[in-house]
Amino acid sequence: MRDRDLDCPGCHGRRDPKLLVCTACWRALPHATRGRLARTDHHTRLRARHLQRELKAGTPLGIIRVPR
Ligand SMILES: [Zn+2]
Repeated sequence: MRDRDLDCPGCHGRRDPKLLVCTACWRALPHATRGRLARTDHHTRLRARHLQRELKAGTPLGIIRVPR
């Protein structure tokens, strides 16, 4: 059975369990965005939600920016 939680929100592939998206989408994100998303602090969930919103809105991966 397919785990829906492991669907990549950026494409129809499978998400990397350690990342918010699959490795292909992760590599397509701007370097600064990846750095911010990889950080763990009290804004981690906020950044993850922001990324998911951008993906849902159809923002191209290459220009997605997350706050802080
Ligand atoms: Zn993907």
